[in-house]
Amino acid sequence: MTITLCKTCANPSTRPNVVFDEEGICLVCRFEEEKRNKSIDWEARQKELESILTWGRENSKTCYDCIVTVSGGKDSTKQAMYARDVLGLKPLLVSCVYPPEQLHERGAHNLANLISLGFDTVSLSLNPQVWKKMMRRSFFLYANWCRSTEMALYAIPIHVAIAYRIPLVFLGENPALTIGEKHGRLDGDASQMKHCNTLGGGVPDARLTEGIDPKDIHFYSYPPDEDMLYAGIRIIYLGYYIKEWSGRNNADFSIRHGLVTRTEPPGKIGDLWGVSGLDEDFRLVNQMIKYLKFGFGHVTDQVTEAIHLGMMNREEGLELVRKYDGKCDMDYIRRFCHYLEISEEEFWEVAESVRNPAIWSKDEKGEWILHVDYR
Ligand SMILES: [Zn+2]
Repeated sequence: MTITLCKTCANPSTRPNVVFDEEGICLVCRFEEEKRNKSIDWEARQKELESILTWGRENSKTCYDCIVTVSGGKDSTKQAMYARDVLGLKPLLVSCVYPPEQLHERGAHNLANLISLGFDTVSLSLNPQVWKKMMRRSFFLYANWCRSTEMALYAIPIHVAIAYRIPLVFLGENPALTIGEKHGRLDGDASQMKHCNTLGGGVPDARLTEGIDPKDIHFYSYPPDEDMLYAGIRIIYLGYYIKEWSGRNNADFSIRHGLVTRTEPPGKIGDLWGVSGLDEDFRLVNQMIKYLKFGFGHVTDQVTEAIHLGMMNREEGLELVRKYDGKCDMDYIRRFCHYLEISEEEFWEVAESVRNPAIWSKDEKGEWILHVDYR
């Protein structure tokens, strides 16, 4: 099998839930085309957002109009400030903080920076032993360590929304429109987010939680649907309503407001700009494994965005993909193994077990070759 790419960007056919139309063009490109042709009715979106905000204000039982889910990174800084300064809301920020062993100094700085910009914030930290146990399970079961942690990251704001009776919750972007991963709707409604690939319905499965006290996994699961319904929870992708929304634009905005980014070169981190996933370093390892599994990593996502922003043409983008996608310095892998308390042999056994033989083969020198049709 050969990976095919969207005819106008770098989006690969192996992306889970990707949709190409009959001309071989992805959802993101069609959405961007609509933007360029000015066929998106931003005024209508604005009106839709205003009615959501009115609803949020009317239904909150506190002085907070909404919850903004934050990590302190580029997208959350943009969202929090947009909610407050452009929309005139009083947001309560909610953050799930990584355990000290995993959290990078840069991440702690960025969250502190965001709070210091003048926000009330609820930060929740979970039991680090259970956290690590779940991460190990996620890694060995799915070769995806962040399956369990993402569940907590997304479920916690909903728990807080119910507890504090603030029913309007903002998430950042609709992944269907930014990377072309379709689950749920193509608008601002994020109520189906828990059915995305990683969250798998919003409740950790039995294999992931085997032997773990159910009382220890409360915050890893979305609250039951009936609780969400009773509390009137409404989850919205704020990014859908912001015209200038993009990872790159959000990064530039947040850097101007104190965000600290990575300084390592793309060849070490498989990342062109060093502005994503700043709170910890193990995500770099995950991107490398994703590259073995699906044949693409973070550089593909960045290039897709850069092509749409007019920062580069498709050929220049594909050159960068060939050069840097899936790169991850051994130093990060060693630190990851040390944290999870596994050997490097165990690590590679798991990583290699998910390398997709349909898209990879070895050449005569024994080097792995990825089969991509770059046309
Ligand atoms: Zn495309």
